[in-house]
Amino acid sequence: MKILIASNNAHKIEELSGIFTGFSVPVMLISQRDFFGDESPDIEETGLTLQENALIKAKALFALTQMPVISDDTGLEVYALNNAPGVYSARYAGQHRNDKANREKLLHELGNHDNRKARFRTVLHFMSHESSFSAEGICEGRIAKEEAGNHGFGYDSIFIPNGEILTFAEMDPFKKNAMSHRAKAGIELGRMVAEFVQSRNKNE
Ligand code: IMP
Repeated sequence: MKILIASNNAHKIEELSGIFTGFSVPVMLISQRDFFGDESPDIEETGLTLQENALIKAKALFALTQMPVISDDTGLEVYALNNAPGVYSARYAGQHRNDKANREKLLHELGNHDNRKARFRTVLHFMSHESSFSAEGICEGRIAKEEAGNHGFGYDSIFIPNGEILTFAEMDPFKKNAMSHRAKAGIELGRMVAEFVQSRNKNE
């Protein structure tokens, strides 16, 4: 089964592909860019929760392509900032979705606060003609005092997962992909997709 990943973010697609290769289900993930080329649509995230946004993206791409799709919506929740930026993580420093500006704003807002606890949350949504379901993954950690590392994307260079001393951006990408919010959601969703594919094949 071919599944379209509803995202223009190459990093997310790489991470999800890595997670899904661990499943013995015959699925092939296709990126939005590979499907649409330069005309790849950018779906507006108008929801108030990660769940809503993941559903909005899955519905929009499914309506356009009629292909099974998986969407991803992720937010960074910082406890001392009342869980901001949360669902607004991409636009924290403005509509231009600038990762560096977002990180700088977060470090500035948190200042020297003692409580630096935070968590990443990812919601993945699968949609096809026959089925629609989602899975969530959480990774608890803390916000670093300053940026460190060159791997990954987004807030990776200021997030240190629990039990670690390095930021996600300092780690080997395989290590991030073994413990991240996206990995946890992906493993759960992958199981559900595998069950779905198997029951579909049985009924055919
Ligand atoms: P969205 O899910 O594409 O809307 O992403 C929300 C924001 O979180 C964007 O600023 C992303 O760069 C950032 N982001 C999403 N996933 C991750 C991740 O795994 N690590 C670091 N930042 C992320």
